[in-house]
Amino acid sequence: MTRLTLTQGDITRESADALVNAANSALLGGGGVDGAIHRRGGPAILEECRRLRASRFGGGLPTGRAVATTAGELNARWVIHTVGPVWSATEDRSGLLASCHRECLRVADELGARTVAFPAISTGVYGWPLDDAARIAVETVRDTPTAVEEIRFVLFDDRAYAAFARRIG
Ligand code: ADP
Repeated sequence: MTRLTLTQGDITRESADALVNAANSALLGGGGVDGAIHRRGGPAILEECRRLRASRFGGGLPTGRAVATTAGELNARWVIHTVGPVWSATEDRSGLLASCHRECLRVADELGARTVAFPAISTGVYGWPLDDAARIAVETVRDTPTAVEEIRFVLFDDRAYAAFARRIG
C-alpha cells in the first residue's frame, strides 16, 4: 500500500529518498522549484545534469519524461527531474502531466526509493490551473502501481495546499 501525504512548505527542506524537480527540458536550472533545488543542493546536481545532456539528452529532456541525479547537499538520495507541460487553453496536454507523475514513480522504483516528494508540477511558471493539476497528480499517482511507500505532495502556498487537500480528502 502506498500512502499519499500532504505538507505545506519548501520542497528543498524535505527529507525523502527522492525529491522531484519541476525542471525544464534544458536541465540547466531555472526559477521556482528548479532554482531552489539547484541553489540548496549545490553544484553536483548541475554537473550531473550537464553530463546527462551530453550523453543521453542532447536535445533536452522531453516533456513528460523523468531522469534522476544525485541530490547533492539536499536531505535526499536522489533528485528526479521531470519536465511538465506548459498549460494550453486550446490543446489538452493532461496526458503529459500524468506522464510526468508516472515516469517519476517508474524512475523511483528503478532506484528503490521508498519515499518520494513531489511539488505541484506545471502550476508555477508553466501556468497550469491548480485544481486541475491537483486532480491529475492525485489520480495518476493513485492509479500507478509502484513499490514507493509514501508519496508526499509538498505545496508551497495555502492555495496549492487546499487544492491538493480537496483531492486527497
Ligand atoms: P513549473 O515550471 O513546472 O510550473 P515552478 O517551479 O514554476 O514549476 O512551480 C511549480 C509549483 O511549485 C508552483 O505551485 C510553485 O508555487 C511551487 N514552488 C515554487 N518553489 C517551491 C519550493 N521551493 N518548494 C515547493 N514548491 C515550490
